[in-house]
Amino acid sequence: MHSVADAAAAVAARIERLGVERVPLREARGRFLGEPIVATRALPGFDNSAMDGYAVRAADLPATLPVYATVAAGDAPAAAIPERVAVRIFTGAPIPAGLDTIVIQEDATAAGDRVTLPAVPRGDNVRPAGEDVAIGERAIDRGAKLGAGELGLLAALGVADVPCIRAPRVAIIATGDELVDVAAQLRPGQIVDSSAHMLAATIRDAGGVPSYIGIAKDDPATLAELIARALDHDAVITTGGVSVGDRDHVHAALAAVGVQLALYKVAMRPGKPFSFATRGRVPIFGLPGNPVSTFVAFELFVRPALLAMQGATITARPRVPVHLAGGYRKQAGRAHYLRATALRDGERLIARAHPKQGSAMLSGLVGCNALVEVAADVELVAPDAVLPALLLEAV
Ligand code: AMP
Ligand code: MG
Repeated sequence: MHSVADAAAAVAARIERLGVERVPLREARGRFLGEPIVATRALPGFDNSAMDGYAVRAADLPATLPVYATVAAGDAPAAAIPERVAVRIFTGAPIPAGLDTIVIQEDATAAGDRVTLPAVPRGDNVRPAGEDVAIGERAIDRGAKLGAGELGLLAALGVADVPCIRAPRVAIIATGDELVDVAAQLRPGQIVDSSAHMLAATIRDAGGVPSYIGIAKDDPATLAELIARALDHDAVITTGGVSVGDRDHVHAALAAVGVQLALYKVAMRPGKPFSFATRGRVPIFGLPGNPVSTFVAFELFVRPALLAMQGATITARPRVPVHLAGGYRKQAGRAHYLRATALRDGERLIARAHPKQGSAMLSGLVGCNALVEVAADVELVAPDAVLPALLLEAV
């Protein structure tokens, strides 16, 4: 059996970054930059006023000067300004050539067409061209995730089509004779394919585009057919069918489409039967069937892989120390991932494990914002002891 760390490293080693595509700026939120953005224009593009006031030559001050002209934001810079005058100016307006300083209007005393101005330091309230971003400067690095700030900067730089790494298209195949669609009337023995919906959400959260292939009956031939069909995606996820039961056909189906397992069984709970293979560049994740096992295995192995495919600089969840209220007891051998709610208490994070920790108990995932990791060799965790936790949301 592989340790979680070894399994994660083995998966990561086989993941390749996807290609770059141009994405309209409006649709680029949450995507990852595929090439560094080098500024082809300066920000600001011209020296401009940071305040409403008067543009002057600092060397002329203090003085009472004639107000020669007015420039507002959007005006083209005024040409040829004579010696010893002030220009009425507004925020964002270009500084007239030859002038070097803005006196804010609160410090000015205007009378008729003249204004009396105190001495101020040269360059006061001037925003020089390029002080934010200079031409040729690397404004955003490859691998950056595009959020509000990055999108604003890209727009200011005139990048209308953004070079983004392709968002991985991820095929979901559920396996099991018992599974039916959420809208179906359940016949005896049937349950809803709930994991398909859970995975569609986790895939989107990781920047991927889910594509639901469907439910494979528990026979290796149909399953192999669905897997073969899904191989034109960037990644494939199957759920269930990876244990050792007579009805567990994922491994046989993979063999039938010519795919060799790279990894099987990880010393973790839930999620032990996690399986992994690749076909060319396409990773195939055989997630265990119990929904909480599916969730935890996705978090540990699939999410980092989808982020790596997108060239993300950070692929891991933040791992933070938490105080585990109530403590914990287990056998040595497997790392346990407790579904927990973490709350801030001053400087500390307190994690409360959900009372329902069964791997089939979906209710234990409700409100869960942390997976508390109890290492494989640990047997006893004292109440309030500090353990690492994967934070699924910022707290
Ligand atoms: P398996 O590994 O196929 O034996 O599945 C383990 C458990 O998970 C069984 O109780 C299955 O009914 C359940 N299960 C498997 N796949 C899904 C799914 N897509 N949605 C909900 N439950 C599932
Ligand atoms: Mg099954």
